[in-house]
Amino acid sequence: MPEPILGPPRILPRSEHSISRAHISKSALNVLYGLHKAGYEACLVGGGVRDLLLGVTPKDFDIATSASPEQVRATFRNSRLIGRRFRLAHVHFGPDIVEVATYRASHDKAEDEADARLDGDRILRDNVYGTREEDVIRRDFTVNALYYRIEDFSLIDHVGALEDIEQRRLRTIGDPEARYREDPVRMLRAVRLAAKLGLTIEPATEAPLFELGYLLETVPQARLFDEAVKLLLSGHGVRSYELLLHYRLIDYLFPIESATLAPERDRLIRDALANTDQRVAAGLPVTPAFLIAVLLWEPLQQAMAHQLVRGVSEHDAFAQAQEDVLRAQNDLLAVPKRFTLPAAEIWFLQSRLQRRRQPDRLLAHPRFRAAFDFLALRAQHEPDLRPCLDFWAARQGGMGLPPSSEGEAEAGAGGPRRRRRRRGRRRGASDAGPPTTVAAS
Ligand code: ATP
Ligand code: MG
Repeated sequence: MPEPILGPPRILPRSEHSISRAHISKSALNVLYGLHKAGYEACLVGGGVRDLLLGVTPKDFDIATSASPEQVRATFRNSRLIGRRFRLAHVHFGPDIVEVATYRASHDKAEDEADARLDGDRILRDNVYGTREEDVIRRDFTVNALYYRIEDFSLIDHVGALEDIEQRRLRTIGDPEARYREDPVRMLRAVRLAAKLGLTIEPATEAPLFELGYLLETVPQARLFDEAVKLLLSGHGVRSYELLLHYRLIDYLFPIESATLAPERDRLIRDALANTDQRVAAGLPVTPAFLIAVLLWEPLQQAMAHQLVRGVSEHDAFAQAQEDVLRAQNDLLAVPKRFTLPAAEIWFLQSRLQRRRQPDRLLAHPRFRAAFDFLALRAQHEPDLRPCLDFWAARQGGMGLPPSSEGEAEAGAGGPRRRRRRRGRRRGASDAGPPTTVAAS
């Protein structure tokens, strides 16, 4: 694509912006000062700067510098280099890791995909280091391309980012369609940032989102799964879900057809996500397992019905339906077994809870609480289930009904890790999923 020509940057001196060192982590400041002292340009970039300007607590602080990875390595004894194709430095301060990237001249796909695109043993290395100006235009959105320079505490804006921040507007750097084609995950990042920060996606940046969802089919599964988890389990799940539906991007993540989504199913998903958002806000752990159970519940019912009309037993119908639904899911986005197994147990326990037999055995089941929470979620829209829910609530000690989805925290703990699975065009799927629980940031 033709690269946008950058004019002279707008540089705001310390007195004209609100970013204070008091809001930057000590570790990040250490790295910034260390690099500056060693004679390099060092800037805070990306989400850290963006979030501080928007009044949000940053999740982490990313640093960009004119120093090469080797120079960063030489500057900090507590550092190591990671990545094969794109080399990054990690500087360690106890449990804290600060990621340092060298200014790069490349419009290429994001770092995480680098290893997925190894060509046999040949490493397609394109560590083309560059200037800050070049570093700017490889970034995805203007709001992610502000540089806070430690040398003079100034804020450097090459792309009109400050105005976009002021207008709370999300805009790609360069031609939106070209940028999404380069890396389709940027479409999901657009949705996530809009949901998380309440930004409006400006019209040109928004238009291709309706059209280009199919490009997600080419994204390595592990990366897609990571993004889906970030979208739905970072505390802005309801809004992210609404936007994914709106742009029909959800069709490429889950076996959900946004155009024909049944209202009952939509409500179940929304309620679960609202619950998850509340848990994240309260600092409670959440895992993808419970949500997977929710997202695939309706397709499971349909698949069950399909099996039952063929005259098979309920047991066999359930087994076959479960297999079919999980296969449909994995064709889009492979969910690690450590999440699908607990989801399947939650499903399995639903009919057992409804039958109310052998209550003591069921209460002792490791997945009881998650299954109960799932039942409580269903009961919000299926009044027939309420007596059953009351029964199990009383059995648990008559403590009433906290529909807290506490089971979310249990569901998903443990279980075998996914086998590495290679499939056609989605090369490079690895089982390096996110941690079992996604804590609030
Ligand atoms: P958050 O950390 O809050 O999730 P972030 O924007 O900081 O959001 P990171 O994944 O930490 O997200 O990325 C850091 C920066 O790297 C981004 O702000 C952006 O400048 C750049 N970046 C990340 N992913 C891409 C991508 N796919 N294409 C282009 N630039 C990207
Ligand atoms: Mg970040």
